[in-house]
Amino acid sequence: MSTRPRTRPASRPLTTTLAAVALAAAGTLTANAAPAQAAACNGYVGLTFDDGPSSSTPALLNALTQNGLRATMFNQGQYAAANPSRVQAQVNAGMWVGNHSYTHPHLTQLGQSQIDSEISRTQQAIAAAGGGTPKLFRPPYGETNSTVKAVTARYGLTEIIWDVDSQDWNGAGADAIVQAAGRLGNGQIILMHDWSANSRAALPRIAQGLAARGLCAGRISPQTGRAVAP
Ligand SMILES: [Zn+2]
Repeated sequence: MSTRPRTRPASRPLTTTLAAVALAAAGTLTANAAPAQAAACNGYVGLTFDDGPSSSTPALLNALTQNGLRATMFNQGQYAAANPSRVQAQVNAGMWVGNHSYTHPHLTQLGQSQIDSEISRTQQAIAAAGGGTPKLFRPPYGETNSTVKAVTARYGLTEIIWDVDSQDWNGAGADAIVQAAGRLGNGQIILMHDWSANSRAALPRIAQGLAARGLCAGRISPQTGRAVAP
């Protein structure tokens, strides 16, 4: 059971109720386990959703929690600043929150001071919204270089790319997204997006597929950059 404050906030009445139902169904005291997965987590995968928070976030959080899944949300700082309650909702639903830059630029085309601004303003916006100070950073488009790495390291951020691209940003349908998740191995990470209705629709089958393979949705370790137990 996690003792991380971000994952066990003091006020989460709806989520607590849902969790209680899930725990009762699973017959377990392991707060992080989904009902279908409670008996066996032989490995962990990192589900990630980029570009939120947005008006799609509540539906995404519902789909995740209803399927016993937890994910890492790589938020844009500009949206965290505009929608702080949605960052709080992510945390209340048991999700982890990472930094995805402030305005989603091509960071490799920017100078060091501009990169620093993108990173630092996002750290501040997420923290101000109640999302904690992120430890994980995903560069927009997965584009990075030595300057980006140097700046993010200064903020104690670990750069996280992905092992599997769901292609939800490229028009992939729910079937293809389910198949992509089926390629995840222990410790690996899949790219999805907050705004993607197809990824949202794929979640029940993603959960079923992971459970059938003894895999559970985990957090991403800032130490190793791999998916681990929550
Ligand atoms: Zn993005």
